[in-house]
Amino acid sequence: MVYRTLTRLGFEGSTAPMARKTAAHADVVIVGGGLVGGALAIALSDAGFDVAVVDRVSPERALRAQHDGRAFAIALSSKRALTAIGVWKYVQSSAAPIRDIRVCEAGSPFHLHYDHREVGDEPFGFMVEAQRLRHAIVTRMSRAKRVRLIAPAPVDGLETTESGARVTLAGGGSVAAPLVVGADGRNSQMRALAGIRAVTWSYGQTAIVCTVAHARAHEFAAHERFLPGGPFAILPLKGRRSSIVWAERNDLAPALLALEERDFLRELGRRFGDFLGTLKLAGPVSSFPLSLRFAERATARRFALVGDANHAIHPIAGQGLNMGFRDAAALAEVLLDARRLGLEGGEASVLDRYASWRRFDNTLMMAATDGLTRLFSNGNRPLRFVRNLGLAAVNGLAPLKGVFMRHAMGTLGTLPKLMQGQDLRA
Ligand SMILES: Cc1cc2nc3c(=O)[nH]c(=O)nc-3n(C[C@H](O)[C@H](O)[C@H](O)COP(=O)(O)OP(=O)(O)OC[C@H]3O[C@@H](n4cnc5c(N)ncnc54)[C@H](O)[C@@H]3O)c2cc1C
Repeated sequence: MVYRTLTRLGFEGSTAPMARKTAAHADVVIVGGGLVGGALAIALSDAGFDVAVVDRVSPERALRAQHDGRAFAIALSSKRALTAIGVWKYVQSSAAPIRDIRVCEAGSPFHLHYDHREVGDEPFGFMVEAQRLRHAIVTRMSRAKRVRLIAPAPVDGLETTESGARVTLAGGGSVAAPLVVGADGRNSQMRALAGIRAVTWSYGQTAIVCTVAHARAHEFAAHERFLPGGPFAILPLKGRRSSIVWAERNDLAPALLALEERDFLRELGRRFGDFLGTLKLAGPVSSFPLSLRFAERATARRFALVGDANHAIHPIAGQGLNMGFRDAAALAEVLLDARRLGLEGGEASVLDRYASWRRFDNTLMMAATDGLTRLFSNGNRPLRFVRNLGLAAVNGLAPLKGVFMRHAMGTLGTLPKLMQGQDLRA
């Protein structure tokens, strides 16, 4: 079905050979047409920018690879942005709202309970399967008037001058623009080509990810349990299914991943509990090594980073993609404001505005997820006492709890227009 959709839309191949033979030009070149790069391309195209998206993988191959059992917690503000750029309608029927969040430490009587009704009528966010979201973004991108996709096209180099930038392609040809954006994920080649260093550390944990079907309804509650090996999340999907993100110590994960299905389910059940009845696997089991990697700077001459290329974090709070969408929304708004003032997108003052707008939110989120991971992935008894006090205190303090709940919804701070659900051109 994916193949047919793409072919019918004339998405594949029509632009790639042309761009390879000749030097193409655009207002913005985005390297990486994934979730964040794709969303940025759509937003910019709608705002009247000619956008070239270069990806080393063709969209249909990316869709096949994306079938890794992951699902994303899309915060309320990200849902508003995806609605504003015309993506949400493609995932709406398969998205499950998150109405409650329950956080606890295994074996402790203390817990934290967020109920969406304490802050309004809308859910905290929605769970959407990764493959469906990717499909929605690819489909919407293929219908965007001003997006030219160049894929599969590995990048060979990046040249920048005071007046512009050029991406050269390994197969020959190049694409030039006043601004190049690196949206090529956590191992960003563009970040390195732009001379921006990344700081990395490993958590010594692997995320084991799968979908389970269960006998009882989840009532749209998300559960986060802090276990000695790492956080264990149960996230509600459409129907009687849940997405599992189970962080486990690197030395234990391979043995768990090698288990036969029945034994794997027994281990999973020990952590999951029996509150949703009998469990069955409802898709593939995959794994991801967990590390923090962030760029020392978000911009360089005629160059900007968005998404995981800018900051790749631990999935403990399900916020990495949401941060990436906020990068994309802020950059699109800054570029449109600059154009209205007669400035070019890649000018230093424009990029400075983008970098400073995103700095606080990104730094705060990286520090919070890093601190939480370290604090909770630790069997130390005094620490256990302190964090249980912390959970109980946040649960009992209404104003603080309200701040945390709005944080989960992504509605705190100075939000870009798209994240408020507004038209970028308004
Ligand atoms: C287990 C797990 C669970 C998660 N759950 C959540 C969640 O619930 N909520 C949330 O907000 N976040 C979550 N995240 C984080 C989320 O997956 C990432 O933040 C998000 O996928 C980043 O998107 P991106 O578009 O920046 O990068 P990617 O998705 O990595 O896309 C990069 C794109 O660039 C292309 N590319 C790469 N290199 C090159 C190159 N050299 N040249 C050209 N193209 C290139 C790739 O083909 C791809 O299309 C989770 C992460 C993990 C590991």
